Amino acid sequence: MSVYAAPLRDMRFVIEDVVGLRRVSALPGLETTDAALVEQILTEAGKLAGDVLAPLNKVGDRQGSRLENGVVRTPRGSPTPTAQFVDGGWNGAPFEEEWGGMGLPWLVATALQEMWQGSNLAFGLCPLLTQAAIDALREVGTDEQKRTYLPKLVTGEWAGTMNLTEPQAGTDLGAIRTRAEKTADGGYRLRGQKIYITYGDHDFTDNIIHLVLARSPDGIAGTKGLSLYIVPKFLVNPDGTLGARNDAKPLSLEHKLGIHASPTCVMAYGEDEGAVAYLVGEENRGIEYMFIMMNNARLAVGLQGLAVAERAYQQALDYARSRVQSRAVQGSSGPVTIIHHPDVRRMLMTMKAQIEAMRGLIYDVAAAIDVANRHPRRPSAPAPRAGSTC
Ligand SMILES: Cc1cc2nc3c(=O)[nH]c(=O)nc-3n(C[C@H](O)[C@H](O)[C@H](O)COP(=O)(O)OP(=O)(O)OC[C@H]3O[C@@H](n4cnc5c(N)ncnc54)[C@H](O)[C@@H]3O)c2cc1C
Repeated sequence: MSVYAAPLRDMRFVIEDVVGLRRVSALPGLETTDAALVEQILTEAGKLAGDVLAPLNKVGDRQGSRLENGVVRTPRGSPTPTAQFVDGGWNGAPFEEEWGGMGLPWLVATALQEMWQGSNLAFGLCPLLTQAAIDALREVGTDEQKRTYLPKLVTGEWAGTMNLTEPQAGTDLGAIRTRAEKTADGGYRLRGQKIYITYGDHDFTDNIIHLVLARSPDGIAGTKGLSLYIVPKFLVNPDGTLGARNDAKPLSLEHKLGIHASPTCVMAYGEDEGAVAYLVGEENRGIEYMFIMMNNARLAVGLQGLAVAERAYQQALDYARSRVQSRAVQGSSGPVTIIHHPDVRRMLMTMKAQIEAMRGLIYDVAAAIDVANRHPRRPSAPAPRAGSTC
């Protein structure tokens, strides 16, 4: 069976000729993103995806992540690609250089993310959620919150999580019961349980920054009484070093098909003294803020569909080129590889065409995000976002 090879030629075709790189490189701050730079970046990322991440996909799924003594252990080998991922600066591809990012357009970062998701979906979920958390914090975090969390999240030294779902609150987030209490010093403590939290705990990074949707101390029923809070796994000291372990821990791991390496956690907040939490933005605007994160994650989950389809196509093509069965329709002395049969070719070409169309649509959306983010007439305040859950 083939390993994953990043479809560099197809990606560059969509970026340069279908979406149009010039449309994006004309935007302020993206002037140096030319075809040569894109080729170089995609080629390097393709090596990490194909040579390092893809071979660990199967073994990671077989071993799975485990909960041991209250902490999650990811499969053997996982921390190594994470280090290479961080060292290469890949996590910060679309984010400002000010925070340690590469300052690349989302158009290019989307192609990179297609590689992470296509080569190793379980691994790719960690940067997917981290990227979404960064997007929310850079939009609505205070200056101090940005200074405290963004540099390490952008480099990938810390990871981010998204905490909406509870046993009784899936689609209907108005049913959320996790509560914030105000403390005497004006801070907050959270108490409650969240389920299905992707990478809720792991050993990839030194710290995990949970973004948690919880009912405000005086929050009314329904979604309008919810606020967004930062809950670090380890509290961060004023000098940036890690402090005490917060009262936020994984209780169990979900069983899922195909992404066993990705720890999807039941999380307990505040079983003891209460989880120290920091309000993001204003109280009772949590849904609006969380949907900055959610929308980023939703687009990335859509991209996973493309990434997995590409990998499936590569494996189908490889099989069709090697499996010998039946004589050729135009006549042959013996059986031929099945790629010679017109109906097999038709199916492969249908897959390929659908993948190309998906890639065109998704990359076009990424370019539209670049325009929305960087256009000189972009409104300074984030537009309110709303919607249903992932
Ligand atoms: C692999 C995985 C990872 C996840 N990661 C995270 C994470 O990181 N953070 C997080 O917070 N959550 C996460 N989730 C949870 C996910 O967001 C929820 O599964 C989702 O919100 C749906 O909730 P539910 O599963 O309780 O389904 P339900 O809300 O019970 O819905 C069941 C079905 O009923 C339908 N339905 C419900 N209400 C309506 C309605 N009013 N009208 C029409 N149809 C309706 C739904 O569409 C669905 O098909 C993850 C889930 C999975 C499977």
